[in-house]
Amino acid sequence: MSTYTSIDPFIKEPKIAYFSMEIGLKNEIKTYSGGLGVLAGDTIKSAADLRLPMVAVSLLTKRGFFKQELDPFGRQKELPDEWNPANFMVRLADRITVGIESRDVQIAPWLYVVESATGGKLPVIFLDTDLPDNAPEDREITLCLYGGDATYRLKQEIVLGIGGTRVLEQLGFEIKKYHMNEGHSSLLTLELLKRYKKNIEDVWDERLVWDVDKVRGLCVFTTHTPVEAGHDKFPYELAEKTLTDSDVIPMRVIKEFSGQSSLNMTILGINLSNYINGVAKKHGEVSKGMFPGYEIHAITNGVHSFTWTCDSFKRLYDKYLPGWANEPEIFVRVGRIPDEELWGAHMEAKKGLIDFVNRETQAGMNYDTMTIGFARRATAYKRADLLLSDPERLARIGEGRIQIIYAGKAHPKDEAGKDLIQRIVEIGERLKDRVKIVFIQNYDMDKALKLISGVDVWLNTPMRPHEASGTSGMKATHNGVPNFSVLDGWWIEGHIENYTGWAIGPSPDVPADPARDADDLYYKLESTIIPTFYSDKKIWIRIMENAIGKNAYYFNTHRMMRLYVTEAYIR
Ligand SMILES: *Cc1c(COP(=O)(O)O)cnc(C)c1O
Repeated sequence: MSTYTSIDPFIKEPKIAYFSMEIGLKNEIKTYSGGLGVLAGDTIKSAADLRLPMVAVSLLTKRGFFKQELDPFGRQKELPDEWNPANFMVRLADRITVGIESRDVQIAPWLYVVESATGGKLPVIFLDTDLPDNAPEDREITLCLYGGDATYRLKQEIVLGIGGTRVLEQLGFEIKKYHMNEGHSSLLTLELLKRYKKNIEDVWDERLVWDVDKVRGLCVFTTHTPVEAGHDKFPYELAEKTLTDSDVIPMRVIKEFSGQSSLNMTILGINLSNYINGVAKKHGEVSKGMFPGYEIHAITNGVHSFTWTCDSFKRLYDKYLPGWANEPEIFVRVGRIPDEELWGAHMEAKKGLIDFVNRETQAGMNYDTMTIGFARRATAYKRADLLLSDPERLARIGEGRIQIIYAGKAHPKDEAGKDLIQRIVEIGERLKDRVKIVFIQNYDMDKALKLISGVDVWLNTPMRPHEASGTSGMKATHNGVPNFSVLDGWWIEGHIENYTGWAIGPSPDVPADPARDADDLYYKLESTIIPTFYSDKKIWIRIMENAIGKNAYYFNTHRMMRLYVTEAYIR
């Protein structure tokens, strides 16, 4: 429980405001659904460790995303995932209002403080509309993460972008940069346009009253998806009905910035930011193709090293690489760790995972079999079933030699994602006497840490170029677990064949060939990965070491935040 009940200690110096629809700080604060939220949480933790002047803003989604359960047929069911904010944070007395559907909606800020071992303290403001003075439907606006229809989503984005900006002002923050983590918070640019409107009369062109350069100078936009459907768009008819705040700029002006055909949150955000970036080098290039004419940079994602290192590796690093958690560059000295101790730390994590899996599933997995892990959102482009595409071949290669652990939630409306989960469960049942395949229900941050540290190989098989970055593979490398992955997102930068891990399919500069990916996956598993694991432990441990010294060394949010500071925040 945070001891801070007042905002006063935090408003003394100008801040970078980091806006994100979801934030995953810890498992019990269920304001996250997956990769985007966990990245936001890791960003905030590194900012606190590095004592950056930052304040973060998100929604207080008290009902969470959802709790996943599978029925006997392997079909996903979604249950509410309630949590109690008062156990972690304090509701401040301040209130601001924003006009939605011609009603005044009140917003209350909650204060959570991330406290770093370095002494850094970073306030996180969670916005809440569940107040007695609000209409019943408005009380629900900040309840569910990614729930409801387009209207519900737009209301949430009004609360986040416009409400969040007003809350910061009301609380007394002076903001020198607004960082939009994805387009959900892009409406904040409208609030800034209004705030910095030029005080001139009789202008011949109305556009001249909007101080676009001023707003751009204040804004940074990070895009996270190379998939067109991943960008939020709202019909203007809906926007006119919903965004009724009397203080907001006229819709015809908004259209100048957010596209003529629909209110496109990405277009709005990038038109009003003077630093725009993708989340890996390749994703930066792909984004340039999607948004021609814009200067788009790339800052490759990372993970928070301390959060994503399991206990046995923390002890190992504390012994041989002291200072690693606040200076992950120290991983470059990984060679100082004796092989037996590295392997010992890995086996400790692996035993913890296998015991957990056996308790959850009664699968009877064992400690010595090579274990492959795959866990992330279940959605078509991630191709969770690529490894299962030829069950007979998998069984021939893997019988007695591999066991496989799956996890991941499908978005409630993603039927294809739910089909994927069901297929994994069905094939697991079919192959159970030859290759053990389990699906662990209700993937979350705690299970993620168990999985990424306890398996021997971390698998990722996205359809290129749909994986903007991917971060779970970076988490694995912090625990000496090598990646076996399609060359997309971060892995294009992290991969050195047979050295940091292994690639699946062709190199990133030749066209993707999805049909051959499965063949390549099976071939490499059989000819290289399984034989190395069982017959050449020395080489295997060298690869584990390189995962730490070459991958974790770089793919962490400390390095990422230093880049945001020098490339985006202080420009
Ligand atoms: C890290 C993480 C993710 C992101 O995994 P990707 O491989 O990047 O898709 C999703 N969910 C949880 C709970 C995580 O911890």
